[in-house]
Amino acid sequence: MSEKRGILIVISGPSGSGKGTVLKRLMEKRDDFKLSISATTRSPREGEVNGVNYYFVSREDFENRIKSDMMLEYAEYCENYYGTPKKEVVDCLNAGQNVILEIEVKGALQVKKKYPDAVLCMIAPPDYPTLEARLRGRGDNVPEAVIRERLDTAKYELSHIGEYDYIVVNGNDMIDEAADEIIGIVDAEKHRSTRCNTFVDDFFSAEKLPCGVN
Ligand code: 5GP
Repeated sequence: MSEKRGILIVISGPSGSGKGTVLKRLMEKRDDFKLSISATTRSPREGEVNGVNYYFVSREDFENRIKSDMMLEYAEYCENYYGTPKKEVVDCLNAGQNVILEIEVKGALQVKKKYPDAVLCMIAPPDYPTLEARLRGRGDNVPEAVIRERLDTAKYELSHIGEYDYIVVNGNDMIDEAADEIIGIVDAEKHRSTRCNTFVDDFFSAEKLPCGVN
């Protein structure tokens, strides 16, 4: 017995947590998960494709979507809008797919408020030195000020960890394990009694009871 509707999973994690790689591995392992495609006003980076990585839209378009109540959540991050288109997510959940939103903290907390049965999961690096080494080790000549800013943002994001339902620590060379932990969390959540609230009604429904039992 488990819920037929999909589970809404929100994944956050600071830059350097490896959340993108973990989610890519999870998607390779399971086909009942769908990664939501967000809308954003930021410009595409090299190699990013509209409708695959994001829906790249203008500020005006984004603000119209907000006004028309088409966004499940949204936030401004580094002077750009980012948000989750509502319809696709709701359709997938109703079709029994688990939907993953990979979003920052403010958006995640909005989702929890609107949909209390969403599962919020923070992917964290194992410790500060590992995070710093990952951010510095990317080798793309990032200026020191940007590294410091990313570390500060990580501190802010991790300070909200208590508002998340689960923490998954992504250690070095532990991508498989981290993906399996998220899968385990979602599979367990499917059996939470509060998600299976039609079970008792079905169990005792008149047509299923033997004659003479009421
Ligand atoms: P990036 O520009 O590096 O792709 O993403 C910047 C941040 O925006 C990341 O923390 C990412 O998780 C977050 N983000 C991506 N899509 C959404 C969204 O739909 N809503 C919110 N609130 N944050 C998002």
